[in-house]
Amino acid sequence: MTRIAVIGSGYVGLVSAACFAEIGHQVISVDNDSAKIAALERGETPIHEQRLPELLARHKGGRLRFSTSVPDAVRQSDAVFITVGTPQSQTGEADLSYVEAVAYEIASAIEGPKVIVEKSTVPVRTCEWLRDSLTLNGAPQGAFSVVSNPEFLREGAAVTDFLYPDRIVVGADDAAGAAIMQAIYQPLTSGSYYAEATRIAHASYRHANAPLVLTNAKSAELIKHASNAFLAMKISFINAVANISEAVGADIQQVCEGIGSDSRIGPRFLNAGIGYGGSCFPKDVQAFRSVAEQCNYDFSLLTEVMRINSEQRARFLKKIRGALWTLRGKRLGVLGLAFKADTDDVRESPAIAVIEALVQEGAQIKVYDPAGMANAKKLLSSPAVTYVEDEYEAARGSDALLILTEWAQFAALDLRRVRSLLKYPIMIDGRNLYEPAAIADAGFIYHSIGRPTVHPERPESPPLGFATQSIGANA
Ligand code: NAD
Repeated sequence: MTRIAVIGSGYVGLVSAACFAEIGHQVISVDNDSAKIAALERGETPIHEQRLPELLARHKGGRLRFSTSVPDAVRQSDAVFITVGTPQSQTGEADLSYVEAVAYEIASAIEGPKVIVEKSTVPVRTCEWLRDSLTLNGAPQGAFSVVSNPEFLREGAAVTDFLYPDRIVVGADDAAGAAIMQAIYQPLTSGSYYAEATRIAHASYRHANAPLVLTNAKSAELIKHASNAFLAMKISFINAVANISEAVGADIQQVCEGIGSDSRIGPRFLNAGIGYGGSCFPKDVQAFRSVAEQCNYDFSLLTEVMRINSEQRARFLKKIRGALWTLRGKRLGVLGLAFKADTDDVRESPAIAVIEALVQEGAQIKVYDPAGMANAKKLLSSPAVTYVEDEYEAARGSDALLILTEWAQFAALDLRRVRSLLKYPIMIDGRNLYEPAAIADAGFIYHSIGRPTVHPERPESPPLGFATQSIGANA
């Protein structure tokens, strides 16, 4: 058992804290947002994340405690994980001011030996800065190690991603730091957690025990930025191919199946759509390009990844105009606000950007999202946007229905009911949730990404009376 403090109780920090308690450690989850800590103390779960309420209920008051005091938590711990935000600064670099503020507070509380763990996503060399900052602010030299332990969890599957990782990356520059990290993750790396009767189950984990990749600190920092940049590149790549597919009348879903079956490539993240968003990819790709600039390397590939991503949204808006002619005064039902399915996170969500652009052009929006509405209301408060209670209310009386987030329930709509509620049977799907032929059979004019528009009477051809254009042709 290790005594752990986790500083920052957001998507990463709270999940990490709950999972460390779950694998046997004594954990204090800290945040300077006293309202969030009070909610956690009351037994509430401040974010939408599967299995998290169950873990919090299981460990709160036992192995998991909450606090607003960084120094108190540091004094009572052997390992201190930093999981505060590292947003994008105006110059594109990562803003490390939250990390620095936490380092200042940690430094004053280091009395005995500690491992300070950088779990927030940070640019390469932050471990060095952190070491210097801790020493300058009074932490006794030799009393602490600084280790990098980047996090790869996905929102929506964060608990199982944490407990059943593809790999754990630990970047340590000294033996003491490496040893304590290996001890912390031992229940996963030995597989002992997976034999426990009360474990959080995962049906298809491909390892008997979690692999741990031990590197130096700089390599671990680089692994995180390079991984996110690679995934963003995969999304932009398939979106670029989708635009060719659409222009020539191919079907991007079939193309993806053919590409993704190659084990060197794999099917994941080959989903054509309205581009990547969220609190990680946009800022991490930018920050990685800034790191390259500082190394005098022009990583122009990343510039192109970002350009394709923003162009993808513009193309989707063109597609909507192509389907509906003018937007002023049009009433649009919208499904989806979260940046991806199974989360309430709307930070940098492409859905929000698309809705803002539609409102700008004079459209009236009725929108529904299963988890993202409360967060979206803080960003999108235009009188042109009405939040409704389900998919069918979004469809009622609307000129068209738009799908912007890939929630499973949006792929299982009662199409007959939706069709009867819509003013016109037009669906514009930014996530390719439906099979074109089947939805045309259900009576819809269906526009999607990288596939031909289909029409009820004449599948695979543009409908009469509607100005449909392929986005490839529009470009
Ligand atoms: P978040 O905004 O959800 O949470 C950060 C928390 O830190 C907030 O609750 C905030 O109140 C708290 N905080 C800020 N300053 C503090 C201070 N001085 N003392 C105590 N608490 C403080 O952020 P997140 O999404 O959890 O991301 C955290 C880091 O993890 C980022 O670097 C992010 O890039 C990285 N990351 C995120 C994900 C993800 O899916 N969200 C995945 C992997 C890595």
